[in-house]
Amino acid sequence: MNNSKPNKDTLYRRYSEYLREKYGEKVYKLPINLPVTCPNRDGISGCGGCTFCGDEGAGFENLSNLIPVPEQIRKNKEYISKKYKARKFIAYFQNFSNTYMPFDTFKMVMEQAARENIVQLAISTRPDCIREEYLQFLSELKIKYNIDIAVELGLQTVNYHSLRKINRGHTLAEFIDAVLRIKKYGFETCAHLILNLPWDTRMDVIESAKILSALSVDQVKLHSLYIVENTVMGEQFKNREFEMISVEEYKKRVIDFLEYLSPYIVIQRLIGRAPEENTLFVNWNTSWWKIRDEIEEEMRANHYYQGRLCNYLNGSAVRHFFD
Ligand code: SF4
Repeated sequence: MNNSKPNKDTLYRRYSEYLREKYGEKVYKLPINLPVTCPNRDGISGCGGCTFCGDEGAGFENLSNLIPVPEQIRKNKEYISKKYKARKFIAYFQNFSNTYMPFDTFKMVMEQAARENIVQLAISTRPDCIREEYLQFLSELKIKYNIDIAVELGLQTVNYHSLRKINRGHTLAEFIDAVLRIKKYGFETCAHLILNLPWDTRMDVIESAKILSALSVDQVKLHSLYIVENTVMGEQFKNREFEMISVEEYKKRVIDFLEYLSPYIVIQRLIGRAPEENTLFVNWNTSWWKIRDEIEEEMRANHYYQGRLCNYLNGSAVRHFFD
């Protein structure tokens, strides 16, 4: 695999390029929707869920969770194959917490997804839903079907005070524990972050980049906060209990984040997409791709790139003795 570092021309390590390097061609994600919930909603880790979370969780573009897994894969594969002439796929368990289910159910659905032309299972979940038995089973599946495993963890921020304010139901420690456990099995890890959470500052964003780099997380997916009707954060937003940062500030935070991030971490996206229905705030009423393009333009114009300021690891204070 090409591990070349980003520079002022390439800007950052793009997920699509990384997949192409790894699998030799373009690879497409097939979303799979399971009838699962989340321990932050059913009272195990917390009640009511994260303050920004609507009823749909993250996967508003998914098929119904009542459709069996093989059928969801078949339908999505047929559609994407036709549209993009795709031949390799990632089975993507996106919505809610996809390791939060009885062990036997987990084994069944993962085995059902390990089908022909599926090169990877990408499993999205919470840091407090990572358990050895499940990881051990995935490592057996990896060998049996010669399939890669990636676990996507919702972290949102490393600021554990903010995590408490958004009723996340876990702190930074559970995230660190989950990453270390997953890495033991050689699976890839992806961290999801929201760079414009109310109460977070630019320093929190930089610290997030530093902690993910120190942990050697493999991938990052950045989101911008969108605010949904009938959520706690929706009410706080209407009552003006916090100020949303400007789009200019969001762009600066993304650039800061990338500059401090290890150059080896792959970037899945710089900004999220969101449904417009029932939404009180989304991407400053601008298209996500326009904001992404503006971030890239600003980086290019100023010679900023991912990893440029990643000089704080491996005993930075004694480095000069080796220069
Ligand atoms: S962990 Fe995810 S699914 Fe659960 S409440 Fe929070 S955002 Fe919603």
